[in-house]
Amino acid sequence: RTVYVNGDYLPETEAKVSIFDRGFLMADGVYEVTSVLDGKLIDFDGHAVRLQRSLDELDMASPITKDDLLEVHRKLVRLNGIEEGMIYLQITRGAPDDRDFAFPDPETTPQTIVLFTQNKPGLADNPAAKKGMKVISIDDIRWGRRDIKTVQLLYPSMGKMMAKKAGADDAWMVQDGFVTEGTSNNAYIVKGNKIITREKSNDILHGITRAAVLRFAREAQMEVEERNFTIEEARAADEAFITSASTFVMPVVEIDGVPLGDGTPGRVAPRLREIYLDESRKAAV
Ligand code: PMP
Repeated sequence: RTVYVNGDYLPETEAKVSIFDRGFLMADGVYEVTSVLDGKLIDFDGHAVRLQRSLDELDMASPITKDDLLEVHRKLVRLNGIEEGMIYLQITRGAPDDRDFAFPDPETTPQTIVLFTQNKPGLADNPAAKKGMKVISIDDIRWGRRDIKTVQLLYPSMGKMMAKKAGADDAWMVQDGFVTEGTSNNAYIVKGNKIITREKSNDILHGITRAAVLRFAREAQMEVEERNFTIEEARAADEAFITSASTFVMPVVEIDGVPLGDGTPGRVAPRLREIYLDESRKAAV
């Protein structure tokens, strides 16, 4: 695989980052994941805008312009022959001479930027979308700025392991009785014809797929309500689903061992998946 590190395209075995990098020592970094379909980038603009917002919120300078970022994404897709898959991008506050809690001066410590591709043939035709997934609920004990896409992913990783141990596919996190989001996705329930998802705040990541799916749902005259919902309400819902750049729209058929509706993906989530894939393919760059 050819990867990108600080301006260079290199074989992955030759790519290096300092042990003093603040991403490594302090999780002082932000990231984005953009999916690729038909060799083109899905929702690139949304991801670039959110990346800039994450950097701004953390007072981190950007090491690259948006135009150059698009060029790097495209070049990696080309060099690695990616038809379907993802591109991972990470920017950290760089590697100062020593470990120190205070932010280093960006004039003397340049940011680190790394991108690599993940080849996933069959990403759009994922058989899991036909079957639907099972989730469990866990406490949301993450920090208070989940709207910033940082690389501190230890608790979401633990959540995935808790799900795995329980024989489920993922975990939905719950705070004060209300569902915040999945470990790496936004969470939705469907009651009748209404799609319900938590409103945007510092409590959740503002998903790029979420924004697109809600727009397509409204354009298709589906009813959307952005409000908190409890885990009990979710267990009693007709349908549920998640969204993320790497899973698009994925039906949820079971929560905490309770099947939703008849335990199959239902009508709304599969339809939204189809619309999302169609529309975002058309708009891909
Ligand atoms: N919430 C969390 C916690 C996530 O990690 C992600 C994916 N990185 C999402 C939501 C979905 O965001 P997006 O649609 O932009 O991938």
